[in-house]
Amino acid sequence: GTASGIDYQAELNDQQYAAVTSRPGHALVIAGAGSGKTRTLTYRVAFLLDQGVAAKNILLLTFTNKASREMVERVTELIPHDTSELWGGTFHSICNRILRRHADELGFTRSFSILDTDDQKSLLKALIAEAKIDTKNRRFPKPDVLLTIFSLSENTKSSVRDIIQESYPYFEEWEEEIKQLQRSYVKKKLDTNSMDFDDLLGLTLKLLKKDEDLRELYQRKFRYVLVDEYQDTNSIQCELIDILVGPKNSLMVVGDDAQSIYSWRGADMNNILSFHARYPDANVYKIETNYRSRPEILELSNAAIKANGSQIPKELRASRDKGSMVPAVIPLTDPRAQADFVTQRIEDLIGEGMDLNEIAVLYRAHYQSMEIQMELTSRDIPFQITSGLRFFEQAHIKDVSAFIRFAVNRRDEISFKRMANMLPGIGPKSADNLWKAWLECPVSQHEDPPLAFSEYLSEFKVPKKAAAHWEQLCYTLDELVTREGFQAPSEMILSISEGVYDDYMRESFDNYEQRKQDIQQLMQYAQGYTDVNEFLAQLSLMSSADGDPKAKQEEKSEEAVTLSSIHQAKGLEWKVVFLVWLADGMFPNQRILETEDAQQLEEERRLFYVALTRAKDELYLTYPTTNPRSYTGEYMQTASRFFEDFDQSLVEEWQIESTGW
Ligand code: ATP
Ligand code: MG
Repeated sequence: GTASGIDYQAELNDQQYAAVTSRPGHALVIAGAGSGKTRTLTYRVAFLLDQGVAAKNILLLTFTNKASREMVERVTELIPHDTSELWGGTFHSICNRILRRHADELGFTRSFSILDTDDQKSLLKALIAEAKIDTKNRRFPKPDVLLTIFSLSENTKSSVRDIIQESYPYFEEWEEEIKQLQRSYVKKKLDTNSMDFDDLLGLTLKLLKKDEDLRELYQRKFRYVLVDEYQDTNSIQCELIDILVGPKNSLMVVGDDAQSIYSWRGADMNNILSFHARYPDANVYKIETNYRSRPEILELSNAAIKANGSQIPKELRASRDKGSMVPAVIPLTDPRAQADFVTQRIEDLIGEGMDLNEIAVLYRAHYQSMEIQMELTSRDIPFQITSGLRFFEQAHIKDVSAFIRFAVNRRDEISFKRMANMLPGIGPKSADNLWKAWLECPVSQHEDPPLAFSEYLSEFKVPKKAAAHWEQLCYTLDELVTREGFQAPSEMILSISEGVYDDYMRESFDNYEQRKQDIQQLMQYAQGYTDVNEFLAQLSLMSSADGDPKAKQEEKSEEAVTLSSIHQAKGLEWKVVFLVWLADGMFPNQRILETEDAQQLEEERRLFYVALTRAKDELYLTYPTTNPRSYTGEYMQTASRFFEDFDQSLVEEWQIESTGW
């Protein structure tokens, strides 16, 4: 018996039970979709607490911060225990926490800023301009491409040269310039006390490698390291785990090689395949029962993934009874008819009492949700979308945070210039001059903020048109600083939005009211924070950083249909799943078909498998037979070639009358 009275044996199958109650040591749980891998990790955490392990000695790495929160919530339902000291979250959020304590060892301060994609691009644009590269008539890579090259090189630990040769051979002539830009980009980040998402991981690793004491400190702290979705770790993440796991630690990783879908971002399936070689004394657990899906759905999923050659063979049997429907394949005349079908069916389901939170529409690429969004809106069906611009990446939210970011990190050039640029009469040139003037002020390099920014800034020469606004900006900044440090985050937002920013918003945006409301929302959100650094980091990390740093995850728990890319749907489940745009050339994607790369096609098929296995009870596979806005120029579309991988008796084709829009 255990202290909590949880009946582990009743709630888990034999393999799960063995893994959950295993003695200290390493463990790998490798099993197919819906077999209870995440559940195993959750119960493992409960079991450890039950055994008297302190929460602070547990590190739980998950694919999204939300997933970690939900797992810990579930744990506390199982066992009443204070879990506030447990570290749980994505690699990015955990690394951020570590760096906030030790960034000074790397030449940063603990108030470093986090750059999002937008910030990275503007930083890089400035560096490209500065470098005065002679592009004559030759094409030079755009900032996004450069950032992808840098990121891939970082995450796969390959040289820039190799990345270019492998993926961007047409930019080979620019190799030297690209390498030079990478160096100046790295330097610029250091000078401005800023890190991008890759740095959070890369620099934590660097820190732990170079500082033995610190490494041992964290090894002693995280006696139990647990990792979900291990198949999608990249080499840096894998190395981070390996370095955190000392001789006395216990590592438990769970994953499914058939669901590895992030190789395009540097994830390496070999991390899970070679786990046993790296941890030879690890116990390996295989779960062969699927608890999620009706047998009809499971059979289809199993058949669909079989076509992949390089999978660890896994048996997956259904534990649930047969359902009321065979997965349906539904060809529709065009994208609008597809949207019409999906929303009509959703309406019917709602009529039958289906919970909105139990319905998801999944697609390969975000733009494929457009018609469905329109149709749901026009029928007043609430939906939430885990994609698109993060809340934080909206211009006005970034504007407001620029003031805060600059106040806490006086070397944050991007935020300073963003602030200055907002004022009438100040363009990039004057902003740059102002920045140079600021660097001349001794306080710009100080660890602590000046009590009055205006003491220095109000002396600066600004264009006449901006003078009054500039003064207002100075006083707004002054308000943010107090004798004790800073105003609370929510007060800072209030000072900014009622100070200089309100006028700016009124003058610059026609949807002033909407933006004002967003800022109100931000303020409310900020009320949960007392520490401004923590608040800023949270804003940047609010997304499911590891999966897709650009994706926004709504915190709303209202009833709503979920619209999501398949990548973002990893690990989740719904009673009803619609998988749309299953036309050949859309899924698998045309670009991948053109490369004729067998490995990429296999990854595409794994993505298809991930999608199918999200469904518990009902699965609808739809595709438009024509595509008016096809970028391949092909107007007619056929069903995905993935449909040829399975016996047609596993699905039922529905013929839907065109609604004639
Ligand atoms: P994925 O590969 O998609 O991440 P997973 O292997 O992590 O899936 P879970 O999400 O943990 O699977 O479990 C799938 C569903 O099955 C959940 O609803 C879970 O509660 C349920 N489940 C798992 N194991 C059991 C069990 N032993 N008894 C009852 N239900 C279970
Ligand atoms: Mg899972």
